[in-house]
Amino acid sequence: MYTSAGADWPPAEFSFRRESWSPVPAPSSNVPSESLPELVDVTVVGGGPVGLYGLYSAGLHGLSARLFERLPVLGGQLEALYPEKVIFDVAGYPAIAAHDLVDALARQGLQFGADLKLGTEVVGFDAGPDGIIAVKTAQGSYPTRSVVLAAGIGRFEPRHLGVPEVDNLEGRGVHYFVGPLRPFYDRDVLIVGGGNSAADWALNLAGKARSLTLIHRRDAFQCHKDSATKLHEGPFTLMMNRILVGVREERGHVAAARLRAVTTGSEEWLSVQEIIVAIGLIPNLGPLYKSELTLAGSEVVVDPAGRTNVPWIYAAGDIVSYPAKIKLIATGFGEVATAIYDISRHLMPRPAH
Ligand SMILES: Cc1cc2nc3c(=O)[nH]c(=O)nc-3n(C[C@H](O)[C@H](O)[C@H](O)COP(=O)(O)OP(=O)(O)OC[C@H]3O[C@@H](n4cnc5c(N)ncnc54)[C@H](O)[C@@H]3O)c2cc1C
Repeated sequence: MYTSAGADWPPAEFSFRRESWSPVPAPSSNVPSESLPELVDVTVVGGGPVGLYGLYSAGLHGLSARLFERLPVLGGQLEALYPEKVIFDVAGYPAIAAHDLVDALARQGLQFGADLKLGTEVVGFDAGPDGIIAVKTAQGSYPTRSVVLAAGIGRFEPRHLGVPEVDNLEGRGVHYFVGPLRPFYDRDVLIVGGGNSAADWALNLAGKARSLTLIHRRDAFQCHKDSATKLHEGPFTLMMNRILVGVREERGHVAAARLRAVTTGSEEWLSVQEIIVAIGLIPNLGPLYKSELTLAGSEVVVDPAGRTNVPWIYAAGDIVSYPAKIKLIATGFGEVATAIYDISRHLMPRPAH
């Protein structure tokens, strides 16, 4: 099972990816150097889509940049949680697999030669009297003029069902992360959840799985309207007001799921071999919780320019909180472009005309 402790990558269930494709490799800047790290204009914390687009924006404005990513691969949630899922709502791409979007973002973001530190978790910041911020990691401190936090939801922790006999079969028919889609081909698949992730998995597996059943504890889906419409039109069995309360295993793998109707309490068995539980993720910013940033729950409060309460520390993407924030790749791109622009105009004031 993929735990949140340390940079344990790839988790056992993702080992397929070594054969099927190559993650963006660590460039030579990860090799420890004798000399002190260079001062950069912007340090980006997090190598998800927003952090990568932040690198591009920094380069565009002529700012030198460094990026820290706690995992040994780039891509954030896209690479860790849904590399093969098709994304439909990024401007300019009617449909693109998550891994391919990461690949494109990495090529776009790294073209200006940012200093990339993979497998390096940022644990805090020290603001010096000279206006230089020291970015602290277990491997040492790195000087910067500004920081953009693009750390998303931090460590990826799925919300577990808390039904021991289900959770015990994780990796043996119960999936909290979906890596490659092939293991679901020609299988009877149960998807638990009613949000966008659950709907996306159903739509991505349509025509590939032998049968697809969705259960949701409420009486209506909470996903995008278009997805809900497609679910109602597609080859799915939709069971509302149902929860998963048990599983039967055969030869160490899921063979059937026990479903309970929340309204009547009646139970039934459904023959399935694979169960995807998509009931959300628990944000965990780890050491960043201890910093002096103003938080709203597990998110960092920002103003319209992406500024946090700490001078020269900005934030963008899933990590931020402001009225009407929605957690999407597209919104994160706009937020990080705004933050980098604000940094650039303060670091490099335009000459008066
Ligand atoms: C199953 C699923 C399907 C989705 N589908 C879509 C979709 O179709 N369209 C869409 O727009 N959105 C989708 N989303 C949401 C989308 O993935 C997020 O909005 C997006 O990933 C946010 O990007 P980010 O860069 O802000 O954060 P993340 O992708 O979370 O990346 C943050 C990165 O920061 C790193 N990090 C965290 N803490 C530290 C630290 N202290 N030091 C160094 N590195 C750190 C993390 O390891 C991570 O790599 C989906 C989400 C899920 C779970």
